[in-house]
Amino acid sequence: MNDAVVEPLLESIRAFARRHVRPLEIDQQHSIPREVLWGLAELGLFGATLPREWGGAGLSALQTIRVVTALAEVDRSVATTVGLHLGLGTRGLVAWGTRAQQERWLPPLASGEAIAAFATTEPNAGSDLSALQCLAQPAPDGTLQLFGTKLYVTNGGFASLLTVTASTPGMGGAERGTSLLLIDPKTPGVARQREERKLGLRGSSTTAFIFDQVAVPNDAVLGEPGQGASYLAHVLSWGRLLLSAGCVGTARAALDAALAHVHHRRQFHRALVQQEVVQRALARAGAIAYGMEALVRTAAAAEHDWDLLSRLTTSAKVFCSEGAFELADLSLQLHGGSGFIEDTGIALLMRDARVTRIFEGANDVLLTHAGVLELTQPAAVPTDASLSGLWSAVALRRNVLQCEAKGVRALNRRAAQHALGRAVIWRDAATAATSLARTPLERAAAALLCDEALNVAMAPDLPAVPTHLIVAALLEGVFP
Ligand SMILES: Cc1cc2nc3c(=O)[nH]c(=O)nc-3n(C[C@H](O)[C@H](O)[C@H](O)COP(=O)(O)OP(=O)(O)OC[C@H]3O[C@@H](n4cnc5c(N)ncnc54)[C@H](O)[C@@H]3O)c2cc1C
Repeated sequence: MNDAVVEPLLESIRAFARRHVRPLEIDQQHSIPREVLWGLAELGLFGATLPREWGGAGLSALQTIRVVTALAEVDRSVATTVGLHLGLGTRGLVAWGTRAQQERWLPPLASGEAIAAFATTEPNAGSDLSALQCLAQPAPDGTLQLFGTKLYVTNGGFASLLTVTASTPGMGGAERGTSLLLIDPKTPGVARQREERKLGLRGSSTTAFIFDQVAVPNDAVLGEPGQGASYLAHVLSWGRLLLSAGCVGTARAALDAALAHVHHRRQFHRALVQQEVVQRALARAGAIAYGMEALVRTAAAAEHDWDLLSRLTTSAKVFCSEGAFELADLSLQLHGGSGFIEDTGIALLMRDARVTRIFEGANDVLLTHAGVLELTQPAAVPTDASLSGLWSAVALRRNVLQCEAKGVRALNRRAAQHALGRAVIWRDAATAATSLARTPLERAAAALLCDEALNVAMAPDLPAVPTHLIVAALLEGVFP
């Protein structure tokens, strides 16, 4: 995919990274040096997706995923800082901001003078956003008064703009509505908490915020009051797209390191790459990396079809976060003991990748969501006839579940929906890989993914053993 705008930018990013980005130092110091952030700003990266009118580069989703992938190939904390700013941090403002809001915020956000963050998670509302307690209520002086706590805010330590999700009962006629609020963290009543200590992504800032009677002007509401929940879906699509693009970068870095190592390391009188077992593992890893990339590209191409974007970014988020972690783990395994030593940087790849299976929607929650969505949508057919077997297998699984839903077993089918979701996600990855495959190698990788996707689609959704008995025994502490 050649692109006259992005290609030179990617070259500049790589040259800058080679010279200035030191992943192990960033990890050890738990922060990205200021000069690196300034350098990224000079490259125009904080304005990549922002409209040209306000000083941004106006890159498309397809162009932006390449930027984030290139950053993540070098360092995941750097990619997360930029990706969060471009996705969750600014997407709402770009899509629904008034002219006045955009005029105030977008120029400094595009230049990197201001960094954006997104605050939705709360102590009692993580996966379940219907439990939000952060509350904004109209005050007699015409402002809104904001109370509550937000956790784990990426870029929180230095953000100049927070998009905060708050419960706004009654506003915009929505009895239990939520709204997105644009908050300057310097506003009186906003208390930024200390940096969290983390397993990975240590260079990326993560803080909590406490809001105590914060006076929020009415013009700080994003879009229509009370419509926050529907806006969130779109903002999260962008967040998941760029997160997935970062996972592609991690996967590439892990695979490149593994390939270099297995060629160079000799055991049993030959290079590791000559071991058949190693070759098989690498072939599967290559296919997964290709599937990840294809799925992210397919999702990005749906930029203007928001429903499709939401569906495909859900699939991409799960497939890519699992793929990146698996490939980092494989790379570590193939490095043997040296992989476990921090100096090689492989352990860092794995530690950094771990959280992507949790944030922006825990994977198990998204898998169930993907299953439920599949059940409620009209049955689709693949455009490529070679995929009809795979699509039929997923459709069969869906039909069985729909029939059961009419009977008594409809009461608790979350595990089955979760299993259907996994089939959907593998189907989407295999479909994207097949559609985009041009070279014999890509076609071979796509075939491998189709095979595995078919196995996933036909796997039993529940093990034959009585799992509820084991869980009950565990809870009672009677299990050895
Ligand atoms: C480093 C980091 C950065 C973050 N950045 C941000 C940010 O910028 N902005 C923001 O708003 N939030 C952010 N988060 C929060 C993140 O999105 C949440 O941690 C995530 O949504 C999960 O919520 P939780 O931690 O409350 O887990 P819980 O909701 O308590 O879930 C815990 C686990 O239970 C399981 N589980 C829960 N529900 C179900 C279900 N229905 N079915 C099956 N399994 C289930 C899953 O395995 C899940 O991982 C960040 C988190 C971290 C760690």
